[in-house]
Amino acid sequence: MKVRSLFDEKRVISFEVFPPKPTTPITRIYETLDALEDLRPDFISVTYGAGGSTPGASTAEICETIQKKHGIHSIAHLPCINETKESVLAKLTEFRARGIDNILALRGDRNPDLEPKTDFKYAADLVEFICEYGDFDICGACYPEGHPESESLAEDVRHLKDKVDAGVSHLISQLFFRNRDFYRFLEMAQAAGIQVPIEAGIMPITNKKSIERMVSLCGASIPPRLAKLMARYSDDPQSLKAACLEYSIEQIIDLLEHGVSGIHIYTMNNDDVARYITEAVRDCVKI
Ligand code: FAD
Repeated sequence: MKVRSLFDEKRVISFEVFPPKPTTPITRIYETLDALEDLRPDFISVTYGAGGSTPGASTAEICETIQKKHGIHSIAHLPCINETKESVLAKLTEFRARGIDNILALRGDRNPDLEPKTDFKYAADLVEFICEYGDFDICGACYPEGHPESESLAEDVRHLKDKVDAGVSHLISQLFFRNRDFYRFLEMAQAAGIQVPIEAGIMPITNKKSIERMVSLCGASIPPRLAKLMARYSDDPQSLKAACLEYSIEQIIDLLEHGVSGIHIYTMNNDDVARYITEAVRDCVKI
């Protein structure tokens, strides 16, 4: 089933999980999925390590399990930076065979140790290629504060419009901590003629290290209020976690009150956190 149609019926709540690192048994993610099942997210997306840090092969397998065992829709992430047309074709064939209808088409992050392949320069090239292959629902990534490689947010939104026009049916945003950045981005996207649903990506912070890592990876800015929380509880991890989870919940409730199409929770495979947040915002989804 194509997840795009869900947005016509309701405000969507979705989760992201990642395949375990090679040093962790694959069964760990299946335990996490068992624990997430009764939260009934509208879909679960599964990442794919473009740089080879996590085995991409398990992305399709995990998606299939989400659908067949748990009865939840899934989206398979597919970064193209280290792929050839031939290898993408093999993956699309596998997705088909496993009953996966939804793909998050990505360029992927550069890995300094890997020379990028040349068949796909941007995610939009992959989107066109998948459209030619056949009948998948294609989702794309977007960046409320602009992609770090773009000169400006305006330029990034122009490229985003091209990606959507290539065949993207819904967008999931990069994590952000300040809702007004997301609202400004929505206005710019609308002004550029982007009309597909845009889900807000929310990363619940659970510790100082994870936030610092995320911020250095994706360039999201930390608003003063969050910075103050981090400073106040720098020696008290439990209180920091509690305060940051409340921050995420407030962020989501405000987004829902502003009528966003959906919320995508970066669970980091932490089912307790996903449960805490989902249960706290569940009633607001119906607003
Ligand atoms: P693109 O849409 O290709 O954009 C990349 C850059 O190129 C942008 O700056 C854009 O403005 C620019 N650009 C686009 N078209 C043009 C053009 N014609 N001319 C000039 N510039 C252009 N990475 C993974 O490896 N695995 C994952 O599973 C994964 N999941 C993700 C999920 C989400 C929701 C998000 C937001 C990101 C995810 N990423 C993942 C990270 C993503 O791959 C990186 O952010 C990557 O740097 C950009 O990917 P993209 O698909 O947005 O690229």
